[in-house]
Amino acid sequence: MIPFASLPEAEEALGRSLTLWEELWWSKTHNVSDYTLYCMNIIFLFVIFSVVPLPYVLLDVLKVKSAEKYKVQAGVHNEPSATWRCYKVVMWTFFTVVGPLQLCSFPAVRLIGVRFGLPLPAVSEVLMQLTVYTIVEDFGNYWLHRWLHNGWWYDAIHSVHHEFSAPMSFAAPYAHWAEVVILGVPTFAGPAMAPGHIITFWLWIAMRQLEALETHSGYDFPWNPTRLIPFYGGAEYHDYHHFVGAKCSSNFASVFTYCDWLYGTDKGYRYMKEVHRKEAIAKSKEQEKREAGWLRADDLKPIPSFLSNDIKSS
Ligand SMILES: [Zn+2]
Ligand SMILES: [Zn+2]
Repeated sequence: MIPFASLPEAEEALGRSLTLWEELWWSKTHNVSDYTLYCMNIIFLFVIFSVVPLPYVLLDVLKVKSAEKYKVQAGVHNEPSATWRCYKVVMWTFFTVVGPLQLCSFPAVRLIGVRFGLPLPAVSEVLMQLTVYTIVEDFGNYWLHRWLHNGWWYDAIHSVHHEFSAPMSFAAPYAHWAEVVILGVPTFAGPAMAPGHIITFWLWIAMRQLEALETHSGYDFPWNPTRLIPFYGGAEYHDYHHFVGAKCSSNFASVFTYCDWLYGTDKGYRYMKEVHRKEAIAKSKEQEKREAGWLRADDLKPIPSFLSNDIKSS
């Protein structure tokens, strides 16, 4: 509960006038408990898990031809029945694990010092904290994910997340309940180390989930703004991890590529990229010869879409 009974009281306590956003925040939340504000996260997550994946999932199950050139695993699609089963399992885990964890973790959020009232954080503070949270989560997730690929941990827990070798957005939170708990630790580590406002916390949880939905989408669109982020992995990077599956010893990081590079766990992926690059050059030369009339058109097979992308970038 915000400890100011009125706007003038808040202005007097802060020693300045409130911004428009602070007035709005006060008017919408001054009679709402902190616990209720924290639990809003459950609604946000439900919407993110249910609505945001739909465009990607529709492209996948409807096998939309115009989007096929952006499909990471060209020609590989999930059946509608598998997609629906995936969503049902995700919702079961959401209502039996994620939701109750949210309801019970409020004392911890209070303890680490997340703020609910005025003043609202400056944009620079929010951006700084989100950056710290992302770096902390990426590092922690890298090591826990790598550990989950060992023996019993993989067979009993992490194999569930790897059921989809050609991932789709619904499959991002598709995991054993124990994995949800284990990988929740680095997600909460950042806010525990640098506690901020509940708005920052909401943004962090939403941002992290949106990133996971995108990296599991199975589509790598060239206009995606995440391509501008330095060392960002993206859909193609994590797709490789699912494509290889149980024996994969590459691409463990959740967001960036530098942990895998630093600890030498991107060798398989780099090798695959190099093979594709060389194949693309060879195909490109064949294409040039065909266009110059040195080869008959039926001497050549069509170039797969993922290789076409390589041709453009080589
Ligand atoms: Zn894995
Ligand atoms: Zn995954």
